[in-house]
Amino acid sequence: MTATIIDGVAIANVTRAAWRDRADILRARGMMPGLAVIIVGDNPASKVYVRNKVKACHEMGLHSELIEYPESTSQREVLARVQSLNNDPRIHGILVQLPLPKHFDAEKVLEAIAPSKDVDGFHVENAGALATGLPGFWPCTPHGVMVMLEHHKVPLQGAEAVVVGRSNIVGKPQALMLLAKDATVTICTSKTRDLAFHTKRADVLVVATGKPKMVTGAMIKPGAVVIDVGINRLPDGKLCGDVDFESAKEVAGMITPVPGGVGPMTITMLLANTVLSAERHADGKVSTFRPEAVPVV
Ligand code: NDP
Repeated sequence: MTATIIDGVAIANVTRAAWRDRADILRARGMMPGLAVIIVGDNPASKVYVRNKVKACHEMGLHSELIEYPESTSQREVLARVQSLNNDPRIHGILVQLPLPKHFDAEKVLEAIAPSKDVDGFHVENAGALATGLPGFWPCTPHGVMVMLEHHKVPLQGAEAVVVGRSNIVGKPQALMLLAKDATVTICTSKTRDLAFHTKRADVLVVATGKPKMVTGAMIKPGAVVIDVGINRLPDGKLCGDVDFESAKEVAGMITPVPGGVGPMTITMLLANTVLSAERHADGKVSTFRPEAVPVV
């Protein structure tokens, strides 16, 4: 069997078009959605990520501000800038690119962002909202995975869903989102005794470990839906995921490639959250907002 490829680029395009329409409606009402991206230091990978985010904003016709600080900048200065962005009516989303330099307390900076503008969904208030099923912003990568599953009408109610990885930005929120869709969820970590025992039971398997090609076809249930969140650069410069695509695609029913799978969805959901935030601000609903299902057309 060769798996159906879940095309992240195509799903991202369709999803962005739907959100562009919503941004157009806002612009017609005189509200231009705006995203501010803060980066501190010279991390080359981070610089590429933030440029891509700003470029994606421009492509959707959103206002965006890239705020670049040298490595030596004090935390106090960045916190002051976050505070001013919290009060800036042109800005509806604030993102601080991680990692921050060592002299920063990243938690403190993330917690300084107004939860109503926390379009990354990393603020403890938004994390708590997801955990308790209350309104809030969902982290972009796992949210993008949910949109992909929805796009392919993957049945989740009662399904065995296994998430490998428990980071605050991917694994944990992913598990909570699958749980909210009534899947039976197992979370595996580096301490899990028999990883393959769990992964082989999965109808839906999401892998986010940062370990290149660690999940092989032999660890996958025939016909399973396999979502590979991993992005790893091999010594030859090529990108690969946390799943061994070649062996996995012979067993899985559906699978995401790397690149071209989950990656394009992350920035898409950032744009979506920025437009959603602008809608809430336009409607005066910033303290009572409710996340909506992302329209998949
Ligand atoms: P983290 O390093 O924060 O977390 C990795 C998780 O994987 C940890 O919970 C760790 O367990 C678990 N893990 C590591 N080794 C194993 C193992 N052998 N068996 C089971 N679990 C294991 O990574 P992130 O969640 O931030 O990222 C994961 C991957 O996703 C990376 O490749 C990253 O580049 C990619 N990524 C991609 C994005 C995208 O846009 N597509 C966005 C964000 C991340 P423990 O907690 O026990 O240490």
